Amino acid sequence: MDEQLDKIVASLQRGLTTTWLRAQEVVSAVPGVPGVEIDAVMSRFARFEPLLARLFPEAGWDGRVCSPLLRYPARVGELESVWVKADHLLPMTGSVKARGGVYELLCALEDFAAEDNLLPEGADLSLLLEPGARAALARRRVVVASTGNLGFSIGLVARAFGVNADVHMSADAKQWKKERLRALGATVIEHAGDYEQAVAVARAECAASGAYFIDDERSRRLFAGYSAAGRELAAQLVEAGVSISKNQPLVVYLPCGVGGAPGGIMAGLLREFGDALIVVFVEPVASACMLLALASGRRQSVYQFGLDNHTIADGLAVPTASQLALDLIGARIDAVVAVPDDAMLDALRKVWGEAQLRLEPSAAAAFVALEPFIAARAARGDRLEKAVHVVWTTGGSLLPDSEFLPLINPDR
Ligand SMILES: *Cc1c(COP(=O)(O)O)cnc(C)c1O
Repeated sequence: MDEQLDKIVASLQRGLTTTWLRAQEVVSAVPGVPGVEIDAVMSRFARFEPLLARLFPEAGWDGRVCSPLLRYPARVGELESVWVKADHLLPMTGSVKARGGVYELLCALEDFAAEDNLLPEGADLSLLLEPGARAALARRRVVVASTGNLGFSIGLVARAFGVNADVHMSADAKQWKKERLRALGATVIEHAGDYEQAVAVARAECAASGAYFIDDERSRRLFAGYSAAGRELAAQLVEAGVSISKNQPLVVYLPCGVGGAPGGIMAGLLREFGDALIVVFVEPVASACMLLALASGRRQSVYQFGLDNHTIADGLAVPTASQLALDLIGARIDAVVAVPDDAMLDALRKVWGEAQLRLEPSAAAAFVALEPFIAARAARGDRLEKAVHVVWTTGGSLLPDSEFLPLINPDR
């Protein structure tokens, strides 16, 4: 019997904020994502910039998938200064899925173009937007399954290129995302079950039909797509005059569902900051699959621990962590903080009031993790006095008023 694990499980079952810290002496190297693969991700994004800018002509957008680094305008708990990596403001999708999800879609587009000879040697990619290529792309289909944001993002961008999209949605997915997708001509398949069941059905259907499956649990391309965020943040910190070293480490707080988005981002950050990086994943207590995988030493579902995977953080409502994420970065995650729904909502309102950032509950979760993480490290004698804290806000800017206003005005 593992006493520490028992304590963690009991705390999660009671719905309490629960922190797991990796034992101090265990420092592991992990495969991560090699630099050359990150280079390839960045150059593919760069190739597609002119096309994305044409397809999403939002207020003069230049086609670059990147988000601002903001200084949070108020104290957070004891902390004077906290930075926000504002992925909720990412173009096109308003969530972190604009990185990995859209990246894999761009890979699929290039695969389709190669198979159908849509791009003669040396031709410009923008040929893909011309009628001939669009007719060919309109015969293609991508399939994805998610709790909402990944499906929403893939559907949105696939339809912009004229590619068909089947989007399998778990019971957690919000109605407005389904309606928006259907209006764009995507096929939305609703599942009564959870994320894992939706993914399993979609994966099986694709194996039979030969359509391109964007596999949120297993895709290396998807995972790698997120890693470009590492260099982006490194450059922004330099520009802000913030230097990172082992003495002045970078602590990032990353909301975690299956682990692909935070894991891919972490892989990119590891290439930039190495030992000077401290990584905290954040999950809802009811869906603390990464915390339980790390605390128990093996991948298993939250249901086995008596948790129900019911949370308002629809982007994080996942019962089992991704094996790919565990293999590539699991052994290097420093901490996981599981937070209750009401704390996420409080944070969402506070952040809206103090900084006018429009976050969904999944993204607000990251703010809740700061204090318990810092307290847990302090209890171990490490006060992290000089650390630079970056909260990753992973989504929410596209929430319609009908969704957002009830979150900030609970009485209405
Ligand atoms: C998808 C998502 C995450 C987490 O991504 P995973 O790859 O499932 O770990 C976090 N926040 C938001 C808003 C998301 O949509």
